[in-house]
Amino acid sequence: MVVVMKAHATEEQKEHVREAIRAVGCTPRDIQGAEISIICLIGETRGLQPEQFEMIPGVDQVQRIQRPFKLVSREVQPNNTVFEVGNVTVGGNGVVIIAGPCSVESLDQFRESAHAVKAAGGRMVRGGAFKPRTSPYSFQGLGEPGLKIMKQVSEETGLPTISEVMEPELVPLVADYIDVLQVGARNMQNYPLLNAVGKSHRPVMLKRGLSAKIEEMLLAAEYILAGGNHNVILCERGIRTFETWTRNTLDISAIPVLKKFTHLPVFIDPSQAVGHAEYVGSASLGSVAAGADGLIIEMHPNPEKALSDGDQSITPTAFSALMPQLRAVAGAVNRSIA
Ligand code: PEP
Ligand code: MN
Repeated sequence: MVVVMKAHATEEQKEHVREAIRAVGCTPRDIQGAEISIICLIGETRGLQPEQFEMIPGVDQVQRIQRPFKLVSREVQPNNTVFEVGNVTVGGNGVVIIAGPCSVESLDQFRESAHAVKAAGGRMVRGGAFKPRTSPYSFQGLGEPGLKIMKQVSEETGLPTISEVMEPELVPLVADYIDVLQVGARNMQNYPLLNAVGKSHRPVMLKRGLSAKIEEMLLAAEYILAGGNHNVILCERGIRTFETWTRNTLDISAIPVLKKFTHLPVFIDPSQAVGHAEYVGSASLGSVAAGADGLIIEMHPNPEKALSDGDQSITPTAFSALMPQLRAVAGAVNRSIA
């Protein structure tokens, strides 16, 4: 059960609620949302009636929350979360298209990628500087010099950037250079990292773990919101199944399910999902049709020479051919491309 306080409830009124919660043998726990402040009842609430708390001054409503996630829940916040990243609105009607290489490889490669993203109508550029590679002998990313390249190119093009952070200690460093912090699939349940990005002022894109259930993903997002950071994007990027002809299986049904249970924006990474450039377009179009709020697509000026994920990277030509198709599909479901 949670007690949702009125927007202007005073600290004294909140303390009355906490006292009333203690009086029935439960423990109060405050969670401060972007728009609302709620006090959870931890303990046995089955015998309690909402009316017991509803009449306390400052209380807006009392809800029984069946599910373990709270701040991310649409029950608690019915309106979609909408926020700005530079000049880009995330979570609104406009579907946000992010593209760029898997890894930042050089200034020239990243600059060429970003210009191609911009020319085709993409609104943000992606690039990895710290790469979670399956093999320790694969290219691990340029590290901080890669972040510097991203910042320079972002200033040249005006495109905000997104890049992965793998370690809690590196969150302030990555946040210095990059507009959106990506928590990768392999780190979805790295709780110290979730706590660290929860304290950052930068928006976070949380990717679904390779074998994570939707509820586990929502609970991982709950850590970030509970830490104080409410600007979170959820990203479905394909899950492990028995199928091997695609790299992962894009769980397109995760889009309507997530949209039902959470107010957070939902993006799709079609590239990690399908693993082959030739399927990225279909997966992108299907995702927008199913209600995705954005896409993050791997695009490389020369996929054959890419230092990571070249097989699944589309060319700038393919990307610019995809954009008008995405616009048409977005229009068919009463959305636009941001
Ligand atoms: C990536 O974006 O390049 C990446 C490694 O993604 P994921 O964490 O979804 O595998
Ligand atoms: Mn990749």
